[in-house]
Amino acid sequence: MKDKYGIVHTLRIHIFYMEQTLIVFKPDAIARGLMGEIITRFERVGLKIVAARMVEVSRELADKHYPISRREFIEGMGGKTIENYEKLGIDVMADFGTTDTFEIGSKIREWLVGLITSGPVFAAVLEGPHAVELVRKIVGHTLPLLSAPGTIRGDYSYDSSYLANTGRRPIKNLLHASGNVEEAKYEIPLWFKPEEIYTYERVEEKVMR
Ligand code: UDP
Ligand code: MG
Repeated sequence: MKDKYGIVHTLRIHIFYMEQTLIVFKPDAIARGLMGEIITRFERVGLKIVAARMVEVSRELADKHYPISRREFIEGMGGKTIENYEKLGIDVMADFGTTDTFEIGSKIREWLVGLITSGPVFAAVLEGPHAVELVRKIVGHTLPLLSAPGTIRGDYSYDSSYLANTGRRPIKNLLHASGNVEEAKYEIPLWFKPEEIYTYERVEEKVMR
């Protein structure tokens, strides 16, 4: 179809901008009865739920979802912890027995795997233009204490590195959301088979075409 400038618009352009992303409501969100409230936030912005189910996560799935081989992810978690301890004036060495970001990150990853395998979770695939970025914006910062009001983590949790680390547990920030398009492409097939991901139309696609 040609617009008034003579530019040809085809459906291909639209499909090109479609992304899919994975969300997983962690056991803290399930235990607090927040599934409905959280999913509503994604629905109302125009994101399409194309796959969804509750899952009892095996150790194998948890290990794949949070791979120990993703060094930058493990070191990132360790780095965030050290930064937070320095800010609070707490001795990292005294608490963790090391100042190595990978070792600290590995410890946190173990806690995280423990959390995600501790009870049923709710996993879903959301689809829409810029879905990955949009979902991260709605979810908010990793640390609920630093997450802006209006975001899911900012509105429903006050958890911090300090509370989590001194409690020897991961940060309870309600849900996982793929961090970028590459991560989403890796994660979605871990949780859903291609035939479990559905196709349908939402009216926003017509309105914001
Ligand atoms: N996490 C933690 N302590 C940290 C950093 C992360 O317990 O210092 C947990 C937290 O639950 C987070 C998850 O590890 O959601 C994955 O970390 P990531 O850096 O990928 O944060 P996210 O992408 O979830 O915002
Ligand atoms: Mg992440």
